[in-house]
Amino acid sequence: MMLLSPRIRAALLAAAATALVAAGAPAPGPLGIGDPLFPHLGNPGYDVVSYDIAFDYSGDNSRPLNAVTKIDALATADLRRINLDHTRGKVGSVLVGGETAQFTVQGEDLVVTPPKPVRKGMPIALVVRHTSDPGGDEDKGGWIRTGDGLVMANQADAAHRVFPCNDHPADKARFTFRITAPKGTTAVANGLAAGKRTTARGTTWTYRTAHPMATELAQVAIGKSTVVRRQGPHGLPIRDVVPTADRAKVEPWLEKTPDHVAWMEDKVGRYPFETYGVLLAGARTGFALETQTLSLFERDLFTTEGVPRWYVESVMVHELAHQWFGNSVSPRTWSDLWLNEGHASWYEALFTEERAGRSLEERMKEAYRSSDGWRASGGPPAAPEPAAPGRQLSLFRPIVYDGSALVLYALRQEIGGSAFDRLERAWVQRYADGNATTEDFTRLASWTAGRDLSGFFRGWLYGAKTPPMPGHADWRSAPPADGDETAPSDGGA
Ligand SMILES: [Zn+2]
Repeated sequence: MMLLSPRIRAALLAAAATALVAAGAPAPGPLGIGDPLFPHLGNPGYDVVSYDIAFDYSGDNSRPLNAVTKIDALATADLRRINLDHTRGKVGSVLVGGETAQFTVQGEDLVVTPPKPVRKGMPIALVVRHTSDPGGDEDKGGWIRTGDGLVMANQADAAHRVFPCNDHPADKARFTFRITAPKGTTAVANGLAAGKRTTARGTTWTYRTAHPMATELAQVAIGKSTVVRRQGPHGLPIRDVVPTADRAKVEPWLEKTPDHVAWMEDKVGRYPFETYGVLLAGARTGFALETQTLSLFERDLFTTEGVPRWYVESVMVHELAHQWFGNSVSPRTWSDLWLNEGHASWYEALFTEERAGRSLEERMKEAYRSSDGWRASGGPPAAPEPAAPGRQLSLFRPIVYDGSALVLYALRQEIGGSAFDRLERAWVQRYADGNATTEDFTRLASWTAGRDLSGFFRGWLYGAKTPPMPGHADWRSAPPADGDETAPSDGGA
């Protein structure tokens, strides 16, 4: 995710104005997968293998969609109840292994009692008939209503506002989406198209992911859109989804993606997925989001006069970098978020230096100045404080953006550019399609550098104060200022 800078957000707004359970649990209750920052997110006792989700869109984006979510999972414990994360939609029925199952709603958990207890190692086949409601508190994520349809923004904990799931990146799975929408509407989702069938009711579009994906990265875009295709490096299919009316206007931006992919591949190795592209949504989100294989952006970022070109490209490269860092290699817990945002900010800054001449060192020196304040207000990079109640996006603080890119800068200063590059390549290769922890990163860094870096990382990742910058003994961090916790981090804007 990248929060847009206040100045850019103001410019977009101004322009728009002028334009116009688990085993043996005694009672059903909400459970969690064990994330310190999100105690009720995810669920123990099973591992989802695949989701197959059908949405029926009426053409009116304020009305709930009828949906069927099929989940294939493996039990990792004996289960008398199966907890799924789910809220906002109404559940009509639940089948387990083809038989009707009882269910209750506890907090934001759908608690299912299978007809027969599930034994560890057994497959579980769940079918949930439910609605998926795009109305109300959009700032909490899930469906986002656009001028002509819907898109999704589920990070960090909002996928279960759209469909029942094990809503935690620790449980990645394959996804199939089947979206039925009326004539004149286009539906696109993560992965590649796997069929399209038109009947009197409309068209059903099927998409399937070739790689495992976290629920927070799901994307289903429905609207009056055009799909623009081109080729990226080594034949990679690039597929952009743009409002049909803006197609010509945004082409100068769309045509940059193959070069962005080539640039990232030169830094860290092959693009990790089967396709990529940008999704431009006619909605005011205030952020861009790295939904897997199809990153989400505010259309106005690309159509508003006066937004600096380097800034637009830096947002594009940030979300692209996440496809490696955060998507292919997913965090084990949300405390590992610095690995996502630190790396995305790092490549965003590096690209901006190489292509727009904006100094990385100056940006890092500036981040160093703020770093003690960021640590004081939200915790150090790898031990962030929980988000403010009801405001999960407040987890996306400056310390995990430039505050964590600064950790990578310090690491490069410490071990040298060549070892740093080898580490980055090894990281995305070794943990591709999986999950990794902060400890996995520090261990691989020590191994790559050929020496124990645990003392170095202890200070940089967990210290209340920012350690001295290797090679820049003169850099100073200003004393913490009040009230900068919500300051967005867009680096050079
Ligand atoms: Zn990001």
